[in-house]
Amino acid sequence: MKTAIIAALQQALAPEQVLLDEAVAERSHHIWRMDTPLTAIAVVLPRTTEDVSAILRICHEHDQPIVVHGGMTNMVGSTETQSDELVISMEKMNQMEELDEKSRTITVQAGVILENIQIAAKEQGLLFPLNFGAKGSAQIGGAISTNAGGMRVLKYGMTRNLILGLEVVQADGTIINSLKKIIKDNSGFDLKQLFIGSEGTLGIVTRAVLKLAEVPASRNSAYVAFNEYDKVVAFLKHLDAGLAGTLSCFELLWQNAYRGLTSPPAQVKPPLPYDYQYYVLLETLGSEQEADRKRLEQLLEEALEQELILDATLAHNASDLDWFFKIREDVHTLVSLCRNDQHFDISLPIPSIGKVINNILEKLHTLPLLEKAFAFGHMADGNIHFIIGKTEESAALIKAINDIVYTPLQALDGSISAEHGIGLHKKKYLHLCRTPAEIQLMQLLKKSLDPKGILNRSKVIDL
Ligand SMILES: Cc1cc2nc3c(=O)[nH]c(=O)nc-3n(C[C@H](O)[C@H](O)[C@H](O)COP(=O)(O)OP(=O)(O)OC[C@H]3O[C@@H](n4cnc5c(N)ncnc54)[C@H](O)[C@@H]3O)c2cc1C
Repeated sequence: MKTAIIAALQQALAPEQVLLDEAVAERSHHIWRMDTPLTAIAVVLPRTTEDVSAILRICHEHDQPIVVHGGMTNMVGSTETQSDELVISMEKMNQMEELDEKSRTITVQAGVILENIQIAAKEQGLLFPLNFGAKGSAQIGGAISTNAGGMRVLKYGMTRNLILGLEVVQADGTIINSLKKIIKDNSGFDLKQLFIGSEGTLGIVTRAVLKLAEVPASRNSAYVAFNEYDKVVAFLKHLDAGLAGTLSCFELLWQNAYRGLTSPPAQVKPPLPYDYQYYVLLETLGSEQEADRKRLEQLLEEALEQELILDATLAHNASDLDWFFKIREDVHTLVSLCRNDQHFDISLPIPSIGKVINNILEKLHTLPLLEKAFAFGHMADGNIHFIIGKTEESAALIKAINDIVYTPLQALDGSISAEHGIGLHKKKYLHLCRTPAEIQLMQLLKKSLDPKGILNRSKVIDL
């Protein structure tokens, strides 16, 4: 069967679009696992939607399971492969087709790197606000398929809020084209939402119309320090109320994460001393640089007087802004400090974060093989990340850590995934934040849209 599929793919595509044998093994399944050779029957490199459609028609006909590769920056094993799977890598679908300044939209192919979209928008005086640490590698199709969040969700929403139109190829090769630029469309089901965040299990995203915003005329940022979590919550309210909608980022770092991100081997120095329990990176995007800066200064002074905050430092210029954000964005520094790293991106109600996360950290540190546990995250979205390092790797230890992190979330109506998705690694914990009826509905949708179960087989849900 393998020979028949390869022959059909070679007939449908150009020779350089079908990689076999060593060319497959030279690749990997993740940007952080480049030393692990990829296993797959082949890797195909579509250039157009029609290529994707032709590939899926062949796979559907032959019951051939496929795994879609975007930028391979996901954190949940969703681009891992089995040796009998075909990889469809979207890297050659990297065209930005149209930037429409008047509609404030950009139409792109799915394989365009996120940062390139940010740059293209900026060149036209516009902003594509989706922003996270992996922006230099992650593709927009991957971000759409994982409904990525990042550091400006507070102001602009998640990827879902930034998509006006989508083109998707279904498992049988059918092209669903809805590349509209309109903001409001209540003509029946909002089908694009089915594919956004479904991690490539319901269809392959090939093109998208993205919503752009005006570039804010002012940008200010500060690091702020605290010893008590309740004061972080009170400060968030104080700030948000005082800023009238210009607060765009509110990132919380526990002390050891802040220290790890600002001391060697990290290349950046700390903006505040290591004397505090919690650090917040905040950003405002507004319309008048000086007035907005003064307003932020005033709010910080009030917070100091009210003893909501213990220390603060403002960014004074563009290089300070880069410095402040580099600290938070460069989470790979924390990964490099961890052996056998394990990652989490949980959601929980904002007021519970301090107590629950500190309890989790305490329990994690009772595990003898646990070496490090860094906590940080998009606190204003109720989303906290952990990066955990262990002296040894074992299935039992992974499970023990998962149990400690995930179990409290059920009673809190939280989520085991705020933004990274379920992929392979979290599948068996899905029941902790989804009801049996919800999981059944997901299975029903999967069976309807991909009856042969070929798309990202065994990711997210089992059938
Ligand atoms: C340093 C770092 C920081 C990060 N920070 C954040 C953050 O702040 N917020 C956040 O939300 N995420 C974050 N992430 C993870 C984030 O989900 C991914 O970076 C990104 O959204 C995935 O894009 P990708 O192109 O790498 O997709 P991949 O990893 O290649 O794929 C992810 C999933 O989408 C599927 N897929 C990829 N392309 C398509 C397509 N065209 N059609 C259908 N399915 C497709 C894949 O099969 C897989 O299931 C971070 C990751 C790293 C490494």
